[in-house]
Amino acid sequence: MSNKIAEKKKGWRELPIGGMILEAGNSAEYNTGAWRTFLPHINRKECKNCLLCWIYCPDSAIIVKEGKFGHFDMKHCKGCGICAHECPVKAIAMVEAKK
Ligand code: SF4
Ligand code: SF4
Repeated sequence: MSNKIAEKKKGWRELPIGGMILEAGNSAEYNTGAWRTFLPHINRKECKNCLLCWIYCPDSAIIVKEGKFGHFDMKHCKGCGICAHECPVKAIAMVEAKK
């Protein structure tokens, strides 16, 4: 770990007890996409715009545009694969994320 990164991190004395999140509703501020090993890829020709993927995505990382599948929010998608699993026409495939 570089010294620059170490300087930015808080020590245990600065963290809230139990690591609690004190400000509610702040999840959008945390970009969790960097955790991914796999990422979803949509075949738009197969997509029927049923939006089941949007309903099931645990990170609200599927963005709907004008009532149809719009795009994946890659800042928040964790690559869990639930959308691909739930898509009834298998329009979503999980592909390995390149680091
Ligand atoms: S679940 Fe599949 S068919 Fe339905 S909107 Fe999502 S990608 Fe399209
Ligand atoms: S892979 Fe998981 S987090 Fe990403 S869009 Fe699909 S359901 Fe959401």
